Amino acid sequence: MDDRQLLRYSRHILLQEIGIEGQQRLLDSRVLIIGVGGLGSPAALYLAASGVGRLMLCDHDKVDYSNLQRQIIHRTATIGQPKVASALAALREINPEVECVALPIRADEAKLRELIAQADIVLDCSDNFETRYAVNRVCLALRKPLVSGAAIQFHGQVSVFDFRRDDAPCYNCLFPEDSEAEELRCATTGVFAPLVGIIGTLQAAEALKLLMDIERGLNGKLLSLNALDMNILRSGLSKDPSCRACGESLLAARRVKQ
Ligand SMILES: [Zn+2]
Repeated sequence: MDDRQLLRYSRHILLQEIGIEGQQRLLDSRVLIIGVGGLGSPAALYLAASGVGRLMLCDHDKVDYSNLQRQIIHRTATIGQPKVASALAALREINPEVECVALPIRADEAKLRELIAQADIVLDCSDNFETRYAVNRVCLALRKPLVSGAAIQFHGQVSVFDFRRDDAPCYNCLFPEDSEAEELRCATTGVFAPLVGIIGTLQAAEALKLLMDIERGLNGKLLSLNALDMNILRSGLSKDPSCRACGESLLAARRVKQ
């Protein structure tokens, strides 16, 4: 780190839990953010400001008027631009040292494999179950830690699945894909602006700690937030032995090892 970096990151370096070593790890790390909307906005802003070395942003959407109420990385002037381009411009202004990669695509499972393989950690900031299940499967297969977030109306949640560990539960253990969970969308049900800010910021916090191997936080836990009562509930998650995603894949991994 040069003098300018030591100054830029000095308030991190002062923290006993981070120090120069922890900050250097952030500078050397690569993060993939899937979705640059309500959750991805604050997550990307904090990760870039914190000095994550390489930030990959994946989103196929364009900035719309109705996004600006909560997607704080975008500007009125960037309406109509791809969200990843709009985000990139904002991130460069905050921290030009971060290498930002804009991926204006809707990633299918094969593409996700390619992208996730290049990342140390993945933040799922998407807004649909299809993407969440696909990201979970690929992170599991490639053993990449996943920080998952969701927010709708006044309810939000965050979980961390550290697939580097054999005993990690997965997103599918928590919400089985075959369940009849209804997909609610902001466009029809609404979402409280600061809620996505809180949840996306929690995702950034968990991601930074994982990158620095600080083993405290939401790993294997579910944090649920009700922003109306401002009630936060933290509950433990356990691996579902019959989970269709991680139950089978673990068996397959063991077979390969033998
Ligand atoms: Zn599972």
